Amino acid sequence: MKKGLLIILSGPSGVGKNCVRQEIMSMKKIDLTYSVSMTTREKRAKETDGVDYYFVSEEEFQKNIDNGNFLEWASFVGHRYGTPKDKVEALRNAGKNVFLEIEINGASQVMSKVHDDRVISFFLMPPSLNALEKRIRKRKTETEDIIQERLEKGRKEMTMTENYDHIIINDKVERAAQEIVDIIKSKMKKR
Ligand code: 5GP
Repeated sequence: MKKGLLIILSGPSGVGKNCVRQEIMSMKKIDLTYSVSMTTREKRAKETDGVDYYFVSEEEFQKNIDNGNFLEWASFVGHRYGTPKDKVEALRNAGKNVFLEIEINGASQVMSKVHDDRVISFFLMPPSLNALEKRIRKRKTETEDIIQERLEKGRKEMTMTENYDHIIINDKVERAAQEIVDIIKSKMKKR
């Protein structure tokens, strides 16, 4: 059995990775398995444990680092986020195409660790800095300090596009999602 693809969707905070990911995962004609990350961040009202994230304590997260359980992990604005290594490997070995939605530091770790030709990376880019700020504010989930911190991070991150296979402009969620899916499908055909 051919190993499943490892698809990385990354980009600055607030660019809309989450919306694009959900749009992609809702498409019927493409079979992708989302890798649920572990985080120390608090659960937001609309989120479900085990679906959006595995919400864990700092101690539990640290235990997972110490045991080498993460394919990658990163700190992001005061919290830690990580991708469970064994799950991703097991899914790919079973032929499943695994989808990661992670921030930039973690994406670099995955790209430098996993070298098979079944990895595809996407950098999601906002149409402008203004658009990024509007999106972050519209979410209304963060305090002003956190918004400023996320924006500052976003500004820096917008220049970190090297090493990615594809740069996708998120001008419209449906369009960006379709562009990504078309690229994934053409890679699937190359089996
Ligand atoms: P949020 O707190 O808004 O859900 O996520 C903050 C950032 O962490 C987003 O950019 C999201 O893509 C990223 N993220 C989510 N899961 C992971 C993960 O497992 N690893 C890394 N490195 N980043 C993650």
